Amino acid sequence: MTKRAIFPGTFDPFTNGHLDIVRKGLDLFDEIVIAIGVNALKKTMFDLETRKRWIEECFSTEPKVKVDSYSGLTINYCDQIDARFILRGLRTIADFEYEKQIAMVNSDLNPSIQSIFVLSEQKYTAVSSTVIRDLIVHGGDYTQYLPDAVKVEQARP
Ligand code: ADP
Repeated sequence: MTKRAIFPGTFDPFTNGHLDIVRKGLDLFDEIVIAIGVNALKKTMFDLETRKRWIEECFSTEPKVKVDSYSGLTINYCDQIDARFILRGLRTIADFEYEKQIAMVNSDLNPSIQSIFVLSEQKYTAVSSTVIRDLIVHGGDYTQYLPDAVKVEQARP
């Protein structure tokens, strides 16, 4: 049976921190579906198609990685695509508290799906999509935090 995990997130935009977590996850799983959660109430800087294309380009030579989007409960999406694992990254204790809460509720809803947490490399602990969006808006240099395929300068709104 294929050991399939989803890596859910907003990825607005996809960062080197996200890339690190997926690479680490590739040692653990046969397939990782990077799943962009779509929430009609959440306004993003980059549209869904652009975010999806950037992530696909990051993994164009990695057949074990797929990219998709979903709306609704993550746990229901896991069921739909037959994934038994949810991969999440941890940077800080604050991430842990937040992630633990979500994982507990998901486990109540469907105990057969396991959340797996991977620690980010020290050098990525300060990297977040939110900080990068701030740098973009205020003209700071964000290039060291983004994979080459994520060409935000071509997609500035
Ligand atoms: P969400 O809206 O679900 O928080 P994000 O796109 O911000 O989506 O993050 C998706 C996942 O990636 C989360 O598990 C988050 O903790 C993790 N993550 C984000 N940035 C990093 C980083 N620099 N290092 C490790 N994990 C990260």
